[in-house]
Amino acid sequence: FNSILAVTMICGCVYALQREFTAHHSMKRELQAAVRNGELQLFFQPQVDRKGVIVGAEALLRWKHPQRGYIAPDAFIGIAEECGLMPLIGGWVLKDACNTLSKWREDPHLSTLTLAVNVSAIQFVSEDFERFVLDTLDLYRADPNKLKLELTESVTLVGIATVAAKMNTLREAGITFALDDFGTGYSSLNHLGRLPIQQLKIDRSFVQGVTENPQGAKLIKSIVKMGLDLGVTVLAEGVETAEQQAFLLNCGCQQFQGYYFGRPVSIDAFERDSIARISEIRTML
Ligand code: C2E
Ligand code: MG
Ligand code: MG
Ligand code: MG
Repeated sequence: FNSILAVTMICGCVYALQREFTAHHSMKRELQAAVRNGELQLFFQPQVDRKGVIVGAEALLRWKHPQRGYIAPDAFIGIAEECGLMPLIGGWVLKDACNTLSKWREDPHLSTLTLAVNVSAIQFVSEDFERFVLDTLDLYRADPNKLKLELTESVTLVGIATVAAKMNTLREAGITFALDDFGTGYSSLNHLGRLPIQQLKIDRSFVQGVTENPQGAKLIKSIVKMGLDLGVTVLAEGVETAEQQAFLLNCGCQQFQGYYFGRPVSIDAFERDSIARISEIRTML
């Protein structure tokens, strides 16, 4: 009986693996086709300063699947990484972002905005990443000073010296860096001082805790203080309520992003809203 059980279990495992393999394989082909067929889109979420003025946007990837509708990045980025598709997908994201920046450069309302692009660790550590970014900026005549790359702490796993060197090359060209999801990773404090980081993005999970419990409030206070002491800009992610914003303002937080200020929307909607909001502020002055 035991051996039957064992065989059944092994078969089950092999079957599951096979199924997973097939699923990954078809996902890989679907993703490749998606890039080719123009099914990827960037959505844009506003980032605002202490007065609520839009200072930039974060580009967030969406897959507009012909049958399944919009698919969120968490559902396919991981698989894209495993399948070795990040050069293709990440490359598309950077091109599209630079194209947008170059268009904004010519617009009197949008030319001051920065654009933040998420870069996965696997994409960042590839040998020709810096060259690719610099060439793409050139190709689209986009302003490097307006491009912000968002990295997570996981990038430091490949070795701090390598990462610092790559970041410095891009920094010298004017590109800025934000550390995304700050507080959720590890070894952060140790590495912070050694990397040319201009912005800390406090993870949404901390922001949510702010008005819920005293511990959460204390935690966020000390994270903001630490960022300010280090001389980087502190941005709070996932701000959903006026109470959260008020608390964060009081802590000294400099920038905000979240549903309270605007959801990620299509490029057309983002540009329309931003131009309207920026013109409104200018007429008030
Ligand atoms: P992230 O970079 O931390 O982006 C913030 C996520 O929080 C986005 O989810 C955004 O839609 C969501 N969000 C913003 N404000 C709020 C809020 O007030 N409440 C709540 N509940 N959520 C909020 P999204 O667009 O699903 O992206 C998820 C993650 O996928 C991103 O997290 C990023 O790590 C990754 N990602 C997105 N686009 C790209 C990309 O182009 N390349 C790479 N490598 N990763 C990407
Ligand atoms: Mg991000
Ligand atoms: Mg984040
Ligand atoms: Mg994230």
